[in-house]
Amino acid sequence: MPFDLDSVLTPRSLPGPRSAELLERQGRRESNARSYPRRLPFAIDRAEGPYVIDLDGNVFVDFLMGAGVLPLGHSHPELVAAAAEQLPRFAHGLDMPTAIKDEFTELQLAMLPESMRETSKIHFCGPTGANTVDAAIKLAKTATGRGEVISFRGGFHGTTHLGMAVSGLLEQRQPVANTTPGVHFAPYSYCSRCPVGLTRATCSVNCATSTETQLTDENGGVLAPAAVILELVQGEGGVIPADREFVTRVVAAARAAGALVIVDEVQTGCGRTGTWFAFEQYGFEPDIVCTSKALSGIGTPLGLIIYRKEIDVWAPGSHTGTFRGNQIGFATGVRTLKIFQREGVLANVRARGQQVAGIFGQLADVPQVRDVRGLGLMWGIELHDPATGQALPGLAKTVQQVALHHGLIVELGGRGDSVVRILPPLNATEELIEAACTLLVGTIRRCAAEFGTVDRGDITLVGADA
Ligand code: PMP
Repeated sequence: MPFDLDSVLTPRSLPGPRSAELLERQGRRESNARSYPRRLPFAIDRAEGPYVIDLDGNVFVDFLMGAGVLPLGHSHPELVAAAAEQLPRFAHGLDMPTAIKDEFTELQLAMLPESMRETSKIHFCGPTGANTVDAAIKLAKTATGRGEVISFRGGFHGTTHLGMAVSGLLEQRQPVANTTPGVHFAPYSYCSRCPVGLTRATCSVNCATSTETQLTDENGGVLAPAAVILELVQGEGGVIPADREFVTRVVAAARAAGALVIVDEVQTGCGRTGTWFAFEQYGFEPDIVCTSKALSGIGTPLGLIIYRKEIDVWAPGSHTGTFRGNQIGFATGVRTLKIFQREGVLANVRARGQQVAGIFGQLADVPQVRDVRGLGLMWGIELHDPATGQALPGLAKTVQQVALHHGLIVELGGRGDSVVRILPPLNATEELIEAACTLLVGTIRRCAAEFGTVDRGDITLVGADA
């Protein structure tokens, strides 16, 4: 390991002078819609494995991993070599067949549960998660001849017009009038804040009952939908693993109504939850799977949907896109899967996930910690005011800043950004998880104890942007 964890996870002041200069230039030239540098105020020089190094020489442990894009950490040497080999041979191929694309396709299908391997087809989409969501919904509408879609509260599916239309986040939807019509939101099994007002003790999964009755009520106002779309662990929504019974009943209700089941595995896919896809842990086979983020393993963008052969009824050219043939991504994606198999990465995700659960479990006695949730290596710690039960975005933001100023990059999400989230690399070592999660637990404990009076003197936030 090139860096000593003890010396990485130490206090520093941010941003350093070179980072401050670039942040200031960025602020003058780039869109007001930029987001990450407002909360992570540094400019990146380079990155390797789990570490990011800024222009001022500060080293960070990165538990954001390009928003879940980098399963094997930054610039894995074997993936860099695979990209370097492919680049001079052939780089961009629209949707023409190539040997490396064929191998990639073969390996992707081989990652499916056995019963789906021969019965599924792949469509390569434009290279973003949102584009796969667009493709999935277009295919579902085409295949069923229907126009309505059921989505779930708290879900996130991207920021294109359609991605946003099926996402719950009102802050993004508010300024943009008339998103795609025909989208209806149903309650999701967000048990720490039950959407139908029950408690864990009285729960009878009424969130699922709501969708069941919606789909059968002849006076319910919603025509039979083309699809239901859901995440099995809501990521941006605050790391909320769906309740198993909720999923089983929603899937059964959708099937009974003739609607297709789309799972958005853009964040949960490619091993993040400990199986290649999260749906494998929920005991059903979806009709359409959206996958993107971690497909290439090294951040070279790719997106695709996998679906049942029988619904492959759309016409040639129905969902085109210039960037569907990224050969570098295929080459690194093939190498990623070989590394997964060789090194037992999925088993590591499960073992490290249990380790995280154990460490975060130490937070049970902190009154501001409302819930600790996760699956595999996606985890969230929801913070609230114990007196009122209200979300505590200020505390979550302080935790993120204090962790960052001690060398650990974490993300926020959920209602009011009150959930502290981690997306560690899937090949994280036991030592890395131990050190970084222990630091985070200590940070939450300290910030929670001092919240309101916390001395933020050691933190330099970047001007008004922060
Ligand atoms: N779906 C899910 C579940 C996601 O987490 C995201 C991105 N966070 C998207 C879709 C959108 O992906 P992209 O930003 O690549 O469009």
